[in-house]
Amino acid sequence: MKLSVLAMFFALSIGHAWAQRIAPDILPTGKGPLTIQPIQHASLVLTINKKTIYADPSGSAALYQGIDAPDMIVITDIHGDHFDTATLRAILRPNTILVVPPAVADKLPASEKANLVILKNGDQAVKMGVTIRAIPMYNLPETADSKHPKGRGNGYVLTIGGKNIYLSGDTQGIPEMRALKNIDLAFVCMNLPYTMDVPEAADAVLAFKPAIVYPYHYRGQNGFSDTNAFKKLVDAGNKGIEVRLRNWYAAGR
Ligand code: ZN
Repeated sequence: MKLSVLAMFFALSIGHAWAQRIAPDILPTGKGPLTIQPIQHASLVLTINKKTIYADPSGSAALYQGIDAPDMIVITDIHGDHFDTATLRAILRPNTILVVPPAVADKLPASEKANLVILKNGDQAVKMGVTIRAIPMYNLPETADSKHPKGRGNGYVLTIGGKNIYLSGDTQGIPEMRALKNIDLAFVCMNLPYTMDVPEAADAVLAFKPAIVYPYHYRGQNGFSDTNAFKKLVDAGNKGIEVRLRNWYAAGR
């Protein structure tokens, strides 16, 4: 009885968002198991060897409650669903390495620039034993009023324990994505009018053939993209690609 009351208090005190976090996945690597925790929309947390990497933390610090503080944060772009100053301020620790494109660096206060790694498209860095490659992300056709002009944001390929992990950021099925090689784990966006539709995402994934792909960033202007349709298209084109459908919106925001 006492225990269950305590458990209830704990569940209430840590909040709604945590209670609805979906279960993580585990990927074996050359450096031990990699834990993959979807958080929400474009955000996820990767943990390996007690090192914790957050991608695009946003929405609320409560979404990250109970997860180890970030040793590294990678941010893809300036928009609030990727770069959220309030969430960032709440979770950033003095030693956290912050990996960002120049456009995000320009918007950071000096107090958050202590361990900044600024990467342009095509740049590469090695931090904490993780190789980080900045990949272009942009909308097609390239127009003056593009939501994501080429060069502003970064997708990333993180190499951890011999595994190559691709975070698409907000992009269409650009040639740079289609040309990726040896991707073990891919997180690919699909939402209109911000990124690309499901057939375009499936076609791009069939071109670069990741071993595993997670649709993420799939909430669009008119609700969620049909990730089941994405899985069907990828399965029909190449059974060797594992499509992992997860509920990236379990926290309800
Ligand atoms: Zn976005």
